[in-house]
Amino acid sequence: MDKGFPRVEIDLEALRHNVSTVVKMCADQGVEVAGVIKGVTGIPQAAAAFAESGVKYIASSRLEQIEDAINYGIHKPMMLIRIPMLSEVKDVIRLTALSLNSELEVLEALNKEAAAQNKTHKVILMADLGDLREGFWGTEDMVEAALKVENEMDNLELAGVGTNLGCYGSILATNEKLQELVDIAEAIEAKIGRELEFISGGATSSLMRVFDGDLPERVNFLRVGEAILNARDLDVYFGYDMSMFRQDVFTLRAEVIEVKDKPTYPQGEFSVDAFGKKPVYEDRGIRKRALVAMGKVDYGSDYHEIFPHNKDIRVIGASSDHTILDVEDMTEPLGVGDILDFGINYASMVYVTNCRNVKIVFKNPGI
Ligand SMILES: *Cc1c(COP(=O)(O)O)cnc(C)c1O
Repeated sequence: MDKGFPRVEIDLEALRHNVSTVVKMCADQGVEVAGVIKGVTGIPQAAAAFAESGVKYIASSRLEQIEDAINYGIHKPMMLIRIPMLSEVKDVIRLTALSLNSELEVLEALNKEAAAQNKTHKVILMADLGDLREGFWGTEDMVEAALKVENEMDNLELAGVGTNLGCYGSILATNEKLQELVDIAEAIEAKIGRELEFISGGATSSLMRVFDGDLPERVNFLRVGEAILNARDLDVYFGYDMSMFRQDVFTLRAEVIEVKDKPTYPQGEFSVDAFGKKPVYEDRGIRKRALVAMGKVDYGSDYHEIFPHNKDIRVIGASSDHTILDVEDMTEPLGVGDILDFGINYASMVYVTNCRNVKIVFKNPGI
């Protein structure tokens, strides 16, 4: 079964290239990088490519992925970037060196558990600067929490402050926004009388400031996943030149199971589709269509998130296990049993790498 379809091929050399490229770009501006592996479901071979190419931490939102990386033999320090559940505090201390936090109750639990395990655990306090996901709201609360960690929690080390932008509220990581984070850091530093190790200014969405050279000087740490894995978002949504990155780390491959000329407009009385939706169908007459044996179960509910390599192919619909392609404009012949290749983006990557139906094949394992 392991050589079957659908499959996602992961080019580890391309991945290592992208990790090194981000690490170098950031290093040139005094910024260290945590390599975020959650987009690729923490697949250990991919995590290893991150570790081999110069990141400071391996980071994930999921402790299972971090544990897999450790068991695979990756020795980089690990970082939890989704604020911890109270119910996982033991494992946070056991598995990671650093975590992002926004709740005093959790910080107290981490401190207690770190003492029990005879460890010191680093924490970054998250500031919500308006994107409205995680983080302290307001400088005052944040400074107060920082003082508590610094003065009352002996087994925690206040390593710095951080923020996340663009994930929920779609807020841009502008120079001004990130300067707000630096201001909070300096308010804390004034109270604790020392410099913080990290000012962690965000994710791929903050990498634009590195590209533009207008990252506030004191921001010295980013947590990057997408720009390394897909290198697509900054190109597609923001028009950045990503030509120094490999955009072909992932290839999704599926097998053709039917090729027929059929009408493009369904015939009969309309109701709802397999997912209870009422899609709109465009009548383009009779056209050649192909079915591939891959569907929403494999890549998520939106078939617009997979991209045929052959530009003459259009994805026109999908159900759980089938994807329907318009292949009328293809110049080469297509038959049952043929394999078609697709690019993916973040939205489909998180599914295809996390689906037991999709085989994972590595190219260029290298080192
Ligand atoms: C997911 C995540 C990241 C990485 O995001 P990318 O867009 O993949 O670079 C960084 N920080 C936090 C807190 C995250 O949740």
